[in-house]
Amino acid sequence: MYDDTICAVSTAAGSAGISIIRMSGKQALEIAGKVFFPDHKKKWQPRFMHLGNVRDGEKILDRALGVWFKAPASYTGEDIFELHCHGGFVAANMAMELFIKQGARPAEPGEFTKRAFLNGKMDISAAEAVSDYISALSTKGAQMAARQMTGELAARITDMQSRLTDMLAEIEVGIEYPEEDLESDITKNILPRLTELRREITELHDSFRQGRLLREGIKVALAGRPNVGKSSLLNAIFGEERAIVSEIPGTTRDVISEYYTLHSVPLQFMDTAGIRDTADTLEKMGVARTEAAVAGASVAVIVFDASSPLSEQDTRAFELAKTRGIPLVIALNKTDLPPLITREMIRKKFGCDPVEISALRRTGIPTLLDTIYSLAIGDTELYEGVMITNSRHAFALDVAQKALSDGIAALETGIDLDCVTIDLQSAWHALGEVTGETLSEGIIDRIFEKFCVGK
Ligand code: GDP
Repeated sequence: MYDDTICAVSTAAGSAGISIIRMSGKQALEIAGKVFFPDHKKKWQPRFMHLGNVRDGEKILDRALGVWFKAPASYTGEDIFELHCHGGFVAANMAMELFIKQGARPAEPGEFTKRAFLNGKMDISAAEAVSDYISALSTKGAQMAARQMTGELAARITDMQSRLTDMLAEIEVGIEYPEEDLESDITKNILPRLTELRREITELHDSFRQGRLLREGIKVALAGRPNVGKSSLLNAIFGEERAIVSEIPGTTRDVISEYYTLHSVPLQFMDTAGIRDTADTLEKMGVARTEAAVAGASVAVIVFDASSPLSEQDTRAFELAKTRGIPLVIALNKTDLPPLITREMIRKKFGCDPVEISALRRTGIPTLLDTIYSLAIGDTELYEGVMITNSRHAFALDVAQKALSDGIAALETGIDLDCVTIDLQSAWHALGEVTGETLSEGIIDRIFEKFCVGK
């Protein structure tokens, strides 16, 4: 338990109906009592909203609601006082200043959730899910985070650890009584269970491929030489004149980034046709721009202009994405004009089928979007179980699965049971990193530093 009491405005700044200031710590109610004065004079009752005035001495500053969560039945596990005052820039800041004057200190980023974790109110994967929930880009991403917040992932991990503990105990018996028969019995008994556990860990680990896309969105790079219709394609997708379209090549001024939600998954479109070409640097710029477009993308859309002949730049745009191993689709645009490039030509030269579109007439767009989606997610349904959405968890599961593979190999070759124990213990430790059980203080601090203030 901490000695100090922290406070922060937990709602977003700006013009709004209400703001909520949260205060957590031993002195929360005592400090609140010097700032917020309920209309009734009865004793504070936990979890009941009380209407009253925010006062600085005799001066009334706001009309507000206050609620007390008595420790340990609160988010942090400590006494929490929440003040629901009026929104806008003034009210919350005034109340914060009064709380600080009376002995509270401003909370650091993520400090409420960190206290919740350290007080055993949630495991660290649930704490991380709180942050993911707030920054979710789609309902599906939010649903995943919500499931993790309930401790679903932690429950699975704890179950896996407890199975490992059972196996470790059985191996321990084998080590203490090293008769031949016992050892081979243990191996026979444990090997299938360990193999099944590794399968489950691998399956969970592999859900990260989809989980990450749900959390971060599918980053789609629109690449291609100037004037093929990248900005027009963006406009066709979003149905508004968001990108600046011009007949002069290279006139899209900014890097445009927009989200489009398809089957509950956010697609983030990046049109990087932002640099004006000059004659002498044309080639260099073209390559650099395409490189920038595809770097970090989950899928690349290479846009070709069907009404003009294939150029060196088109081929280079394709090859840049291809050599980086990024899944790509060719969008053959301007198919409303007399064609100079056909589907067959593309198939012959690039070995893939283009999606024919007309950004101007807005045809072929749904097919293009579906192709982008299946390139990123695969043709499989979205994974239904609890999913890994965080690279830290994916890394820990990878370590666990490798340790189990070593353990399985050791058992199969009849290596000393002592060695198997070490592998199983490392797997147990790696699993504990997901829930936070085996994490060092420094790493825990770093995880919470990334949170926003007030959470
Ligand atoms: P960007 O440089 O690749 O972003 O290309 P723009 O989107 O600025 O388009 C360049 C020009 O091609 C503009 O005059 C557009 O109106 C035109 N254009 C784009 N898509 C189509 C299309 O599908 N059909 C026709 N006919 N013109 C198009």
